[in-house]
Amino acid sequence: MEKIIMIKYGELSTKKDNIKQFTDKLLKNVQKKLKGYNISITKNKVRMYINIYENNEDEIIYKLKEVFGIHSIVVCYKISTDLEIIKDECLKLLKEKQFKTFKVVTNRAYKSFELNSMEVSKLIGAHILKNINDIGVDVHNPDLTLKVEIRDEKFSYIYTNEIEGLKGYPVGIQGKGLLMLSGGIDSPVAGFLSQKRGIDIDCIYFESPPHTSLAAKNKVVELAKILSKYGSNINIHVVPFTEFQEEIYKNIDSTYMITIMRRMMYRISAIVSKNIKSNILINGESIGQVASQTLQSMYVINSVTNMPVIRPVSCLDKLEIIGISKKIGTYDTSILPFEDCCTIFVPKHPVINPNMEKCVYYETLIDYQKLINECINNIEIINVNTMNEIHDDLL
Ligand code: ATP
Ligand code: MG
Repeated sequence: MEKIIMIKYGELSTKKDNIKQFTDKLLKNVQKKLKGYNISITKNKVRMYINIYENNEDEIIYKLKEVFGIHSIVVCYKISTDLEIIKDECLKLLKEKQFKTFKVVTNRAYKSFELNSMEVSKLIGAHILKNINDIGVDVHNPDLTLKVEIRDEKFSYIYTNEIEGLKGYPVGIQGKGLLMLSGGIDSPVAGFLSQKRGIDIDCIYFESPPHTSLAAKNKVVELAKILSKYGSNINIHVVPFTEFQEEIYKNIDSTYMITIMRRMMYRISAIVSKNIKSNILINGESIGQVASQTLQSMYVINSVTNMPVIRPVSCLDKLEIIGISKKIGTYDTSILPFEDCCTIFVPKHPVINPNMEKCVYYETLIDYQKLINECINNIEIINVNTMNEIHDDLL
């Protein structure tokens, strides 16, 4: 029996017209992820198959678990589409397993096969019952489910175990987005969730040295590295924001400092986004979390750009966001105690219902166009790409 890794597609199969585009992209992403491995990959409309030639199946599975667009990963056996062979190989496979109850589920994509799927399941089940002692069939809650896929005239696949994939769409299928990445918990989760919808992300980070440290910046780089594992070759656009923040701090009423600062962040982010051929911004805002994330604040801040702003965690509770960040591996880095540029200039009483006219007035007190240009002209780009790294600790 030839052992092979089979991939079941995520949401792709519902997109009838675009299936080829989706599977092509997924194939490219899987190839990128598994670069350097001694494997060969084939695919059709419903499945992808990875032939493995070395004893590194666990490592490969681990990597596939970081690829969006995969519903499940299945280690299976490729056998001939011949009823007697299928029966015998199924028996061989189950003889190696420990179980008391089982059921057989057959999927017959090859419609010209001599029997229908119910008949195949029954025959295989009977063959197993006859040849293994002390076991029984339980169709509702079996210890073990044997799946048989009669794929085509030549080949069938049998397996007992399916590993959950990340699901979603292959990264890149929806083009590019710019993630406003701070060192907190929310924005990396927002980045991950947008990658899940097929968006390839770059990041923008506003730093204010010496008010923010190199350690704070390194933390953002670390977070971007973790996100890059999920399929994006990320450029972090580091915006030198010190002078801008100091100007705001000196000239603008303290209650409006944060609102104005965030309007400036949005303006700069929208320009960077256009420059990298992205049409959207992504951030980690969550409704009501802080003063700048009330609905009125979002309206007043968002009104500086008509570029769509995607807020994947806007309707999640903090605990839900934390749950995701733990699962995707960003939590431990996010909670490291380094200051962010927003936390340094936090006023005692930030406005929670900012007024648009007041914002416009306050903004006449600083030469913000010049400051924006300076920020844009002095951006530092850091590339992170960890797509092919193996993290031993997580294996
Ligand atoms: P996070 O939301 O990432 O946990 P936070 O809660 O401290 O961090 P907020 O002050 O709530 O951040 O800011 C809301 C969003 O604005 C962030 O999720 C992030 O998308 C963006 N943002 C905040 N600070 C920065 C920054 N220094 N650079 C880039 N984006 C930022
Ligand atoms: Mg937040």
